[in-house]
Amino acid sequence: MGSTNPPPPPTAAKIRRTTSAGGGSGSIILEKYQLSRLLGRGSFAKVYLGRSLDNSDTEVAIKVIDKAATVDAAMEPRILREVSAMRRLHHHPNILELYEVMATKSKIYLVMELAPGGELFAKLSRCRRFSEPTARRYFQQVVSALRFCHQNGVFHRDIKPQNLLLDKNGLLKITDFGLSALSEQKRDGLIYTACGTPAYTAPEVVYRKGYDGEKADAWSCGVLLYVFLAGCLPFDDSNLSNMYRAMHRRAFEFPDWVSKSARIVIYRLMDPNPNTRLSLDELVKLSWFKKSFSQENLSSQNGQKLGSEFLEQNEFKYLPRVNAFDIISMSSGLDLSGLFETQANKKEMRFTSGVQVGEIEEKLVKVGAEFGYRIERGKGGGIRLVRGRVVLVVEIWEVAIELWLVELKLFDAEMVLEELQWEELKSGLGDIVLSWHNEVS
Ligand code: ADP
Ligand code: MG
Repeated sequence: MGSTNPPPPPTAAKIRRTTSAGGGSGSIILEKYQLSRLLGRGSFAKVYLGRSLDNSDTEVAIKVIDKAATVDAAMEPRILREVSAMRRLHHHPNILELYEVMATKSKIYLVMELAPGGELFAKLSRCRRFSEPTARRYFQQVVSALRFCHQNGVFHRDIKPQNLLLDKNGLLKITDFGLSALSEQKRDGLIYTACGTPAYTAPEVVYRKGYDGEKADAWSCGVLLYVFLAGCLPFDDSNLSNMYRAMHRRAFEFPDWVSKSARIVIYRLMDPNPNTRLSLDELVKLSWFKKSFSQENLSSQNGQKLGSEFLEQNEFKYLPRVNAFDIISMSSGLDLSGLFETQANKKEMRFTSGVQVGEIEEKLVKVGAEFGYRIERGKGGGIRLVRGRVVLVVEIWEVAIELWLVELKLFDAEMVLEELQWEELKSGLGDIVLSWHNEVS
């Protein structure tokens, strides 16, 4: 993949109006989308309805993240995780699709599939609770999407009705992967960061023990099904330690109207011991789950049939929508580097690359060896370059189809800065680099 596509023609010329840096309602961003009404507010972003200027029939949702207000060193990995997770989960009918990522100096824009039905939570609040067939239909879609995530090495970790949206046909779409942990970040097969929303979070996550992301998501599914059927949370105590005690004793009660078979499913999912907890793979074999499970429940408007049986039988094919070059050369206003820049920092350097991960690693090994670095391979498959006291940790993220962000970071920055020669590495890596993303002098 050495050749660069010519940049697309400047289609935006005819509609060149003042590009507002505001990014609020009414403004045009990067000469491509017009923002209109506010669809929702999240914990770190505002989401607007957007319309493509090239094709005004195309409506999208645009998540606008104000870097000045929200992005600090801690926020950046969260955004990268969301982008990376959504890119990897293309084309499951119940996962909200990410079309484009754009960034300016002050804002990050995630252009996503629109879910005009809004939050499932709003619907649930309106009806108070769902009938068993309705609850099961939504539950099947959540579980199908989560199994697909897990098969692709992504754990959601923040499953709750607020992060479940509905499209115009009432089909469920999971969103907000900000907290999802990619499986590469596992150590010894277990994840270590605590996260999520307390009422939906598995006890082992809360206690900050290493945990299995699949089983943690299974717990949240149990809570979700309870909420769908009962119309309230199983544990709801403003005193968190009381709540966690109740979780451990499985001290929750079912309202009369919840059927016996649904109770069994919930009870087995909300097992405080992750080892004996029902897994999602076991769940989908239960007759309660399989009842009325049809392809139609899971197929998207454009006729793709992607039910769980399909997913079991077919290895999933990614259909690229935008590629690295679209993102990098789309518009002169676009500066992807803004996404990743914190401050000029000599302790790490980052670049984007359009070649495959394997090739990037090969190149790093080759260039490293040329300059006297020894290569260490970690258990999780990652690599480090070691020379004397200099230890460089390599991390590679997929941020778009055919676009990788590579980070080389000094393991112990204080001591060894002066022994490190970034320039030699920089010059050696030249031909796999699309662009550098922090100043290294
Ligand atoms: P955060 O990660 O900051 O919590 P979310 O991605 O959850 O942000 O989005 C915040 C809210 O915006 C959602 O709860 C929802 O109401 C609305 N929203 C988000 N994405 C879409 C979308 N694709 N279509 C319609 N509304 C959306
Ligand atoms: Mg959210």
